Amino acid sequence: MSNSSQKIGFVSLGCPKALVDSERILTQLKVEGYEIVPSYDAADAVVVNTCGFIDAAVQESLDAIGEALHENGKVIVTGCLGKRSELIREAYPDVLAITGPQDYASVMSAVHSALPPKRNPLLDIIPDTGIKLTPKHYAYLKISEGCNHRCSFCIIPSMRGDLVSRPVDEVLLEAERLVKGGVKELLVISQDTSAYGVDIKYAERSWREKSYRTRMTELCEGLAELGVWTRLHYVYPYPHVDEVMPLMAEGKILPYLDIPFQHASPRILKLMKRPGNIDKTLERIQNWRKQVPDITLRSTFIVGFPGETDAEFEELLDFLREAELDRVGAFTYSPVDGAKANELPDPVPEELKEDRLEQFMAVQAEISAAKLKRKIGRTIKVLVDEATAEGAIARSSADAPEIDGVVRIANGQKLKPGQFVDVVVGSADEHDLYATLIS
Ligand code: SF4
Repeated sequence: MSNSSQKIGFVSLGCPKALVDSERILTQLKVEGYEIVPSYDAADAVVVNTCGFIDAAVQESLDAIGEALHENGKVIVTGCLGKRSELIREAYPDVLAITGPQDYASVMSAVHSALPPKRNPLLDIIPDTGIKLTPKHYAYLKISEGCNHRCSFCIIPSMRGDLVSRPVDEVLLEAERLVKGGVKELLVISQDTSAYGVDIKYAERSWREKSYRTRMTELCEGLAELGVWTRLHYVYPYPHVDEVMPLMAEGKILPYLDIPFQHASPRILKLMKRPGNIDKTLERIQNWRKQVPDITLRSTFIVGFPGETDAEFEELLDFLREAELDRVGAFTYSPVDGAKANELPDPVPEELKEDRLEQFMAVQAEISAAKLKRKIGRTIKVLVDEATAEGAIARSSADAPEIDGVVRIANGQKLKPGQFVDVVVGSADEHDLYATLIS
């Protein structure tokens, strides 16, 4: 049966948000009877979902398009880099079509003209949870598109536009379907989760005969009803973030916040045009920890932003030492085509940027290692991601998939992905925990 269907290869690059777009396109392709195949050879055409956030990602996306053209020849480009079609056309004039992010209809019409669909009623039967690229037991829940901020180093608003929130009932229904389909962990993503709903005036909707506003706290209250893990990403430290602390303290959502601080010097943050106020941040972090002692705080930072002085970099290190964040990612600043920050004076020399990144990571490595060490001897609940002959790999409330550490369970060979178990932590390094399953 599948021999008669049109075959599509799919390459998905970029961030978790792009992954959600890929999942939607794949679901639509399946619904229309296309078969998704894992190799260029077997495919009649290839869709490449690109990323254009930083220059390295642009290059990776261009390389992927080049490879797909070389190996297959029929290539449709979508995703963030699609907004810069002239760049793609210049490098690869032979691509069949270029569409932008979240433009599912255009991707599908490009696929239709390259490979007219041969409908197969049997393939129309598809679980209503859609096709997920992430393992079945966790799923990304995208609550909005676009962003109202204009951070000077970022071109996402010019690519994706202003914030457009999905009404809360729509999000809760999707979450409900995912949980029915076996998902045990929901990862809430957007460009700015704290701003959720502001564009639709926190519209009130009803779900399970109860009324909810389209707002971060109310969304969390709804998700808590589903009885699975809920993890919040890309939260900006606005005052109303304090409202979710009681939900974390009661175990309704995971005690985990991913807050991209990016810097700690007020002058640099101003140059970055970042939302939020850093002055009160340390105080607020302390308050959160008082209410939710186990809270895990993850953040990302940029070092070597144009004009960053030695003193401002020291300010950043001081913040790091004081805030004692659990998980930290850092990048050296790199200019992105079209970003306002490119016009700023006093670029930091490349060597100095690298040197600062190294210092920054060394300070954080010590903090992370010390924090993980404090977990030795404790019993924690983990969600199993995979099991092999060497044991199982799982994650605790402190570990988001792909970006944080893991918990390795030496005697976990028989565990199944998606299972929750209790383990005792035996040792730790600066990223991961090593634990034993309690029988
Ligand atoms: S908050 Fe800033 S960095 Fe994040 S998407 Fe919006 S403009 Fe870009």
